[in-house]
Amino acid sequence: MWSPKGESLSELVTTIVDPDPASLAGTAEQFLIELGGPTEILVTGRDRSRWRVLIVLMHGNEPSGPIAAWRWLRSGARPAVDISIFVLAVDAATEPPGFAHRMLPGKRDLNRCFVPPFDDDNGKLAREVLRRIRRRPCEALIDIHNNTGLNPAYGIINRPGLDRLKLVELFTNSCCILSDLNIGALTEVIVDDISSVAIECGHSRDPAAHDVALAGIERFVNTQDLELDTELNRDISLFDHPIRVRLRNGLTVRFSDQPDPTYDLTLRADIDNHNFHTLDPGTVLGWIQPGCAWPLVALGADQKDVSHLHFAISDDKLIFTTDRVPVMMTTDPIVARQDCLCYLMHVHDWLADLTGPDTP
Ligand SMILES: [Zn+2]
Repeated sequence: MWSPKGESLSELVTTIVDPDPASLAGTAEQFLIELGGPTEILVTGRDRSRWRVLIVLMHGNEPSGPIAAWRWLRSGARPAVDISIFVLAVDAATEPPGFAHRMLPGKRDLNRCFVPPFDDDNGKLAREVLRRIRRRPCEALIDIHNNTGLNPAYGIINRPGLDRLKLVELFTNSCCILSDLNIGALTEVIVDDISSVAIECGHSRDPAAHDVALAGIERFVNTQDLELDTELNRDISLFDHPIRVRLRNGLTVRFSDQPDPTYDLTLRADIDNHNFHTLDPGTVLGWIQPGCAWPLVALGADQKDVSHLHFAISDDKLIFTTDRVPVMMTTDPIVARQDCLCYLMHVHDWLADLTGPDTP
């Protein structure tokens, strides 16, 4: 087995240094079971003076990050610089049937816990992760996620910057979202300290998403100089100012092709086909029970509910009334209730504000 090197860090996170690839379990699921809890795996690089961080399994139902990290560790490849891989929601991921729980019942969403108070289990874990990330100058941080609807792989950044866009493009050239939301996520909290991005690799059950994660991780760990040795692709689609659309508390919802009178709101089972597409105003998203209260809450960075600007109810149908682009629409009722239904994006070439329209 691996022999963790003693460090004066909290035992909330186990530390493993340079695991022997031959000792790693034969499946990603078994690998997580053997980790047994939140773990920092440090792989020493050719240049020991520099350090990059990879976060996987922030959410227990998002397997692409841990599967790709496990595959890369099994390859035994030596990275260009020191790499720490934080494998976080191991408890939720290993709870049967496996990769089924975003977090364990009764716990908070870990990626909402990176701001005080740090007084519960996931708050304490988030504080320890922050402490470890800040203990040493870090060149760049990637936080790998999946979602549950049909989406291309895309990146989310919290400050405009060519360095951040280049990090996204290690994984995908499709889309990048500049977010000004403050929901307690890791990448928001470290935005002024570290060049950091979140990557949504694609659907959690799509093996292609795991391949996106692995290819991106290999580029992230092998690239000598993330600034000089990477090209900027200007064809990427850019969005900003997301609005997070949630279901009103207590609303009952299902996804179906026709209205179900036993639920307050029936959403079309194929609404995730709309992700990253501009919709015609009037597009029907679902059906609401007559007399049911307004079903949605939509908050931007200013925390004002603007749901009535982007949706309407007409003839007991929920319709779309905006030129904003929906992303991350889910068709999973648990995700829709626990996290959100979707984000609405503003199309804006914020890169042009940095570089001018013609200069790559
Ligand atoms: Zn996630």
